[in-house]
Amino acid sequence: MKMKIIMLGAPGAGKGTQAIMIAEKYGIPHVSTGDIFRANIKNNTPLGQEAKTYMDKGMLVPDELTVKILLDRVAKDDCKNGYVLDGFPRTIVQADVLKDALSKLGDRIDHAINVDVPDENIIKRMGGRRACLKCGATYHIEHVPPKKEGICDNCGEALVLRDDDKPETVQKRLSVYHEQTQPLIDYYGKEGILKNVDGTQDMNRVFEDICGILG
Ligand code: ADP
Ligand code: AMP
Repeated sequence: MKMKIIMLGAPGAGKGTQAIMIAEKYGIPHVSTGDIFRANIKNNTPLGQEAKTYMDKGMLVPDELTVKILLDRVAKDDCKNGYVLDGFPRTIVQADVLKDALSKLGDRIDHAINVDVPDENIIKRMGGRRACLKCGATYHIEHVPPKKEGICDNCGEALVLRDDDKPETVQKRLSVYHEQTQPLIDYYGKEGILKNVDGTQDMNRVFEDICGILG
């Protein structure tokens, strides 16, 4: 099915978890700007070095840099039948650039899915998150444990606590979210493509709700 989807929600709301499930079910790529930055940090590229200075402080990577990376990624062949964007856009500027780039191709985003989770739940989730920096899979030590402790089910890589999941950085990321990213909920509401899901439910229930929306 040809579909372009945006995942909205606070850091830790479960965007990535759901995006991976959507990508698999609908046969479209999962595009996460955060994963792209983390892969660059792991490989110590100039992009990774620059992105890290912002990410470790809980700040957003500047729009100019982020937009270029995203547009390059979605121009690749595997994205021609659609994609699920996870963590992009995070500012109105990014949303406008994406909209313009798509409209030049006579195209548009089909659904913006807002995974709604209150801040209290977020703080609890982030401390327990464990990430695979090789394949992008995400686990939670209580809610979504890997089969073997500390090891990625998909690729066998050792799981890590992300540098930006430390409690003080999580607080900063939440305030950046409320200031810069939350306005996108209204933005896509006005575009008529916003769909809200209750992200406090069990991950499989959240996915059922999303499938009900996507059809
Ligand atoms: P995001 O991509 O929005 O930052 P993640 O998908 O990485 O969020 O999820 C954040 C953490 O919460 C992870 O540890 C993940 O395993 C866990 N998680 C995701 N969805 C749920 C859920 N519905 N209930 C409980 N924990 C969840
Ligand atoms: P994520 O994996 O989506 O939680 O992103 C981790 C971090 O990467 C964020 O806190 C930002 O520093 C950076 N980042 C990811 N996506 C974007 C984006 N669209 N705009 C700016 N910064 C981003």
